[in-house]
Amino acid sequence: MTGRAFRLRRRPDGVPADEDFELVEEPVPDVGDGEALVRTLLLSVDPANRIWISDMRGYRPPVPLGEVMDGTGIGEVVESRRDDLRAGDLVLGRLGWRELCLLGSDDSATVLPDPLPAPLSAYLGVLGHTGLTAYVGLEIGGPQPGETVVVSAAAGAVGSVVGPLAKARGARAVGIAGGPEKCRRLVEELGFDACVDRHAEDWRDRLDAATPDGVDVDFENVGGEIMDHVLLRLNRGARVVLCGMISQYDQAGAGHAWHGQRAVHQILMQRATMRGFIVSDHADLFPAGREELGRLLAEGRLRSDETIVDGFEQLPAALRRLFTGDHVGKLLVRVAEPTGRAA
Ligand code: NDP
Repeated sequence: MTGRAFRLRRRPDGVPADEDFELVEEPVPDVGDGEALVRTLLLSVDPANRIWISDMRGYRPPVPLGEVMDGTGIGEVVESRRDDLRAGDLVLGRLGWRELCLLGSDDSATVLPDPLPAPLSAYLGVLGHTGLTAYVGLEIGGPQPGETVVVSAAAGAVGSVVGPLAKARGARAVGIAGGPEKCRRLVEELGFDACVDRHAEDWRDRLDAATPDGVDVDFENVGGEIMDHVLLRLNRGARVVLCGMISQYDQAGAGHAWHGQRAVHQILMQRATMRGFIVSDHADLFPAGREELGRLLAEGRLRSDETIVDGFEQLPAALRRLFTGDHVGKLLVRVAEPTGRAA
């Protein structure tokens, strides 16, 4: 049996190019004791993928050159010699950019509930790591009723969950997103109080107008000049939750320079706090997070926004869409259709 995989050929300079990856067809080894073979159905496309293929000092070691690209996905167990997995199980794990993944005994794989209470794709989005990122970040930011939460990349996977969660805590939710149509959807369909189009020439004035009482929580997803302007609007005692800095990720790597934030003085002046976090460090919060996200979804107060790209070979092009903003909600690549219980 063979399967396709993407191997990392070189470290990208700027936005990842097709040539940074090599598409290979490789034999899949026989399933040994304690192993399970999984057929990939869906792969999550994450801004962090760009960090993992750079050689900057990150929160985990980079993907080595020549290795299969890492990635989170959902697959169907084809054959199992692991006690905890059965053929037909749907599992969530670090499958990597490969069509067939041989899981070893130490590879973590979470078996999804049977029957599935939500569509499969939701377990990589609103009920998965990006929904939990929104939840954990807001637990850190602690918005109070009546306070103003600003979230950047608001129409994306994390941002589109932050707004409704902030609303559920009684706060005002102001998004920043790329383009008038994304802003319209966020306000009219996802319940944000306001949204600022980052492409508008006067976006700074618009952000000022959308935050007349200042900013109490900055849920920061993009960094750079957008973050600088949000910092200038901080209220006394504000909390900056540093979740991501996607505007700088194409600068990740040796010899590149990140935009140094110019308005950090407002952290001092406003006695604010700024805290970075990585969602996987906060597994203790996941049960409560999943409960709240599932409940808000069932009540229709949260939506599973997603963009699904078909075709394994589309992975590098899909990764680029995170940097052009050419998607809404969670960006996924569909690799295969399920044949078992999720079909
Ligand atoms: P998104 O679905 O939000 O996709 C990224 C979005 O970022 C794009 O759609 C685009 O939206 C915006 N963007 C891209 N380039 C720029 C730019 N130069 N300037 C401003 N905005 C830009 O991705 P995710 O929701 O998965 O991730 C959002 C952030 O959260 C990322 O920074 C990511 O690294 C971080 N993250 C952090 C985690 C953690 O544990 N700390 C876990 C998961 C994600 P638009 O054009 O609409 O502005």
